[in-house]
Amino acid sequence: VSIHGAEAASAPSLIRGARVFDGQDWRGECDVLVDGGLVAEVSAVGAVSPPPDVVTVDGAGLVLAPGFIDIHGMDRGAAAMAGKDAVNYLSQGVTTVVVGNCGVGTPDGAAPDLAVNVVELAGHNAAHRAATHGDGNVLDWLRARLERGARGVSLGLMYEPGRSASAAELRAVADLVADQGGVLAVHMRDEGAGFVDSISEILAIRGRAAVVIMHLKACGEQNWPLLDRGRELLRREGVQWTYYPYTDPNTRLAAAVPFPFDSASSLREMLQEPSLYQRFRDSGLQTLARRGWDGVIITQGPEPLIGTSVGAVARSRAMEPESAVAALLSEDMNIRARFVEVADLAGLQVSARDELAMAASDAYLFDSSAMNPEHPRNFGAIARSLQWARDGGYIENFLSGVTSRAADLYSLPRGRIEVGATADLVLLDVPDVHDRASDELPGLTATGVSTVWITGRVVYADGMPAKLRSGSVL
Ligand SMILES: [Zn+2]
Repeated sequence: VSIHGAEAASAPSLIRGARVFDGQDWRGECDVLVDGGLVAEVSAVGAVSPPPDVVTVDGAGLVLAPGFIDIHGMDRGAAAMAGKDAVNYLSQGVTTVVVGNCGVGTPDGAAPDLAVNVVELAGHNAAHRAATHGDGNVLDWLRARLERGARGVSLGLMYEPGRSASAAELRAVADLVADQGGVLAVHMRDEGAGFVDSISEILAIRGRAAVVIMHLKACGEQNWPLLDRGRELLRREGVQWTYYPYTDPNTRLAAAVPFPFDSASSLREMLQEPSLYQRFRDSGLQTLARRGWDGVIITQGPEPLIGTSVGAVARSRAMEPESAVAALLSEDMNIRARFVEVADLAGLQVSARDELAMAASDAYLFDSSAMNPEHPRNFGAIARSLQWARDGGYIENFLSGVTSRAADLYSLPRGRIEVGATADLVLLDVPDVHDRASDELPGLTATGVSTVWITGRVVYADGMPAKLRSGSVL
C-alpha cells in the first residue's frame, strides 16, 4: 500500500483473506471492504465485489483487528499532540489514546492536526492547581470540563496536591463522574506497603462511578506478595485495571519523598535544620528499587546528571543518599527517575493475563522528527504486551482489552469490526511483532504492524507514518 498521496489514502480498501478479530472473537478468514470511512462489508474470501477504484491489500497470513485503544496516555490534552505524526502509537497499531491520566489532564476539547484519535480526561491534580490559582473550586473545574466533552476524571493520589483531598471530596468527584457517565481513572495513593489499603480506599469512595485502576503493581520486593490480595479485591467488584509490561517505572523523584517534605521550600528548610533532617530521614524516605539508590537512575533534569544513579550522585557529593535526594530536588523538583526492578515480572505477568486486565502504555505521543523518549514504554509497551500475550497463549484477552473492552469502558464508537463501524483498523503479522525499544535505544519502533487505518484512510504502512491527520477528539 502506498501512503504517498492522499488519493490512495482515501480510496476504498479491500483487505483480502486476513484472519479477523472483531473486537470480541475470531471471525475466521474474511474479506473486509472499507469505504467512506466505514467498514462496508465483511464477507467470505472472494465474495466481495469491490468498487473500481479500490486499493487491494493482501491480508493472507495476517490478523485484522480494530485499531488499538491505549487508555493510558500521559499527554495533558489534545493540543499537546497536534502536528505530531504519532510514530510511536501508529507503529504499535494504536489509533485512539485516552490522555490526561494520573491527575494531569487539562482537556482542550478540540485540536487540529491530530494523527490519532484522542479521548481527554480532566485531572484531579490539575483541578486543585487551578483552584489554588483562583480558577474556581475543584468540583466546578472538573464539572465544566466533563460538560465540554472530557470522558472522565483521572486521579493521581500519590502526588500533591490531589493526595491531600478528603474522602468526602473524592466521593463527590466519583459522584460527578457517575452523573456525567464518565470514568474515574485511578493512580493509587500507595503502590508499596499501602497497596491493599489504597485499593480499598478507591472501592470505598467510588460510589456509582465506573473505575479503572492504572498501572496495577505492588512496588518493593517486600510488598510483591500484596498483589494477589489487591487483585482479589478488584476481581470481587469486577473493577478493571491496566498493566504495562516493565518492572521499572519512570516517575518524579519527588515520589520517593514523603509528605510534608515534598516541596522545594520544605526541602531547603529541612537541609538547614538538623532536627528536621532527622525527621526527614526517619519518615520512611526510601527507594523501593531492588538495587537501592544505585537503582534509581535520573532520566530528566540537569543534563550532566541524566543516566546517573542517585547512589552515584551521593557518593560523588560525599552525602548520604537521603540528603542527596533532598539536595537534588531542592535544586529541581521536576527531576524524573527510573526505579529499577520496583515491580516483579512474575506478578505483572499474572495480572496481565486476567480477563479484567487491559494493556496500556503510560506513554506520550512522539513525532518522527523529534524523539527523545526517556523510557522504552513510549515506543514498546503495547507491542511488548502483545508479545507477552502471544507467547503466553492469551492473545484474545489482549486484543479484546485494547479494542472492545476499552471502547465499552469509555463509551467510544470504536473497537469493533462489523458493518457500519468506523474503519479504524490494524493489520498485523502477529509472529513478527517485536518490541525493539530498549534502555539504550528507547525510540526504536516495534515491528509486526503492517498497515493501520483511521476512518478508512491508510495512516501507517511500510514502517512509516503517513503525514495524514485523520484523528480527532472523541
Ligand atoms: Zn500514574
